[in-house]
Formats: sequence, C-alpha cells, structure tokens
Amino acid sequence: SIPLSYFGGIGASSRAGILVKGSNYLEALSQAKAVIFDKTGTLTRGEFFVTQIIPANGVSKKEIVKLAAIAESSSPHPIARSIVKNYPGNIARVSNVEELVGLGVRAEYQGDTISVGNMKLMNKLNIDGVSTIEDTTGTVVYVALNNEYFGAIEVSDMIKTDAKVAIQGLKNVGIDNVTMLTGDKKIVGKNVAEKLNIPNVKTELLPQDKVTEVERIKSEIGDKGKVIFVGDGLNDTPVLASADVGVAMGALGSDAAVEVADVVLMKDNPTAVTRVIKIARKTKMIVW
Ligand code: ADP
Ligand code: MG
Repeated sequence: SIPLSYFGGIGASSRAGILVKGSNYLEALSQAKAVIFDKTGTLTRGEFFVTQIIPANGVSKKEIVKLAAIAESSSPHPIARSIVKNYPGNIARVSNVEELVGLGVRAEYQGDTISVGNMKLMNKLNIDGVSTIEDTTGTVVYVALNNEYFGAIEVSDMIKTDAKVAIQGLKNVGIDNVTMLTGDKKIVGKNVAEKLNIPNVKTELLPQDKVTEVERIKSEIGDKGKVIFVGDGLNDTPVLASADVGVAMGALGSDAAVEVADVVLMKDNPTAVTRVIKIARKTKMIVW
C-alpha cells in the first residue's frame, strides 16, 4: 500500500508546478545522489539568435540564411525553430526531409539537396572547403547545397536566469555530483558548465552516448543512491528513460519527453529539481 503522505508529496509538488507520476519516484528522488542535466533547452533557453554569418566565396549572406531556413523549416530542433522564426521572408516547401539526430537535417528543394548541421555532419557528407569557426562560444551551423559548401551561421543561446541558482541549490542540499551532457561542441559546453559551476561536462555526444554516460554514472553510484536526469527530451527520450528518475521540461520539451518522463516541470525552471528533491525528503520523513 502507498503511505498517505506520499499523496501529500505529490500534491505539494503539483502546487509547485511539478508533476510527479508516482510515489515510487518521490521515494527515488529522496535518495538522489547525482543529477545530470542536458544543456539546450534545460540549462539554456533553447532560443538561438544569429550572431555571425560567414558565406563561402561567391555566396551571399542572404542566400545561406535562406537555404538554412528552408531546410530547417520542418525540423523540431531548437536551432531549427530559431532560424525559421528569425527568417524575414516566406519559406519555400521542402520534401524528403531527413532529421539526422545530433548532426543536423537534410532536405530536398527544387531538385537540390540542402544539408544543414554541425561539423560532424559536414565530415560525414565529405563536404570540402568547410571553413571552421569552431573556436567560438556560439553553436555553428554549416550549410551545403548538393555537397558543395555554402557557408556557416553562428547561433547563440542564453543561459536561463535561474540555472546558476539551480546548480547551487543542489550543492546546498548536499548533491555535488552534477554533470552536464550535450551534443553541442566542446567550447560551447565547457563555457556553459564553467559559468554555472558544473564540475562535470561531456560534449559532442550522440543520444546513445548520453545513455552510456548515464549508465556509467549509475554504476559508479551503485546502491549509494539514485541518478536523476533532467532534459527537454528532444531526440533524447532514451536518456530520460535510462535514469532512475527522468525529469522533463514540460513547456519547451517534446510531447514524447513529457510522456516518457517520470517527473515533468511545467515551468521549465531548473530550480524545480531541488524543490522536488526537498519535497521528496520531507515526505519520506513523514512516512517513516
Ligand atoms: P543537445 O545535446 O545540446 O540537446 P542535440 O543532441 O539536439 O543537442 O544536437 C547536437 C548538435 O547537433 C547541435 O548542437 C547542433 O550542432 C547539431 N544539430 C542537431 N540538429 C540540428 C538542426 N536541426 N540544425 C542544425 N544543427 C543541428
Ligand atoms: Mg537536446
């Protein structure tokens, strides 16, 4: 039978905009030992703005942005949505869109193929003449047309205002095993982790690498406690499922993430993680 106070814990969470899908998750949260965060949309806002456009020789800035907007028009990725949102004109329809998880997107447009994504994607497609601007703290989106390099767009995201407080809050409740995982490049990930005082960071990960990382931390912690993963779940529902408790951002997160998650943060605020851990611990004290 479920102790009555667990209902109290679920109610208290719910009043704080935190949906806990079962009393077993409160029990696990009360034993949280390590917390792993996704970067984009979780610790950062997931709203990118264009900070630099670097066309290849003979290409105009307008042209690259247009191609990028066309290819990104049917991708749900936060980078894609931001590029589309900021595009001033109408966006032509595309066909045969191929979402390449952790890499980018490819789409057909008037018989041509547009490829938009990171350096890994450019390497995979053997695109020549890519001019690297990898040494920036912005995320770089490369554009190619029929495997010919067209240029790069640097986009930048912002750290959520309460992200630093959220990490400090975990330390305050005795959880200092905090990690950030991202598919983004090293410099971007390191910069965010440094600004937020996150001790562990792993970058350039594909969704399956994130699962491997969560599994590694789980075996490291063993029976000393539980491992919590917090993310927006776009492309990475597997990692939400692999943690002891998967926490999803409810507003910005994907429907699939909200479905697979054990806990949903309705306001997308990372500080809610500490909040729900505190509620869980208090609930447990009442139970015993
Ligand atoms: P994160 O771990 O930060 O949530 P993702 O796994 O969603 O990142 O994506 C990893 C990287 O792949 C992004 O930083 C970006 O470089 C690239 N990428 C993925 N999807 C797209 C897209 N639709 N357009 C451009 N780049 C993309
Ligand atoms: Mg993501």
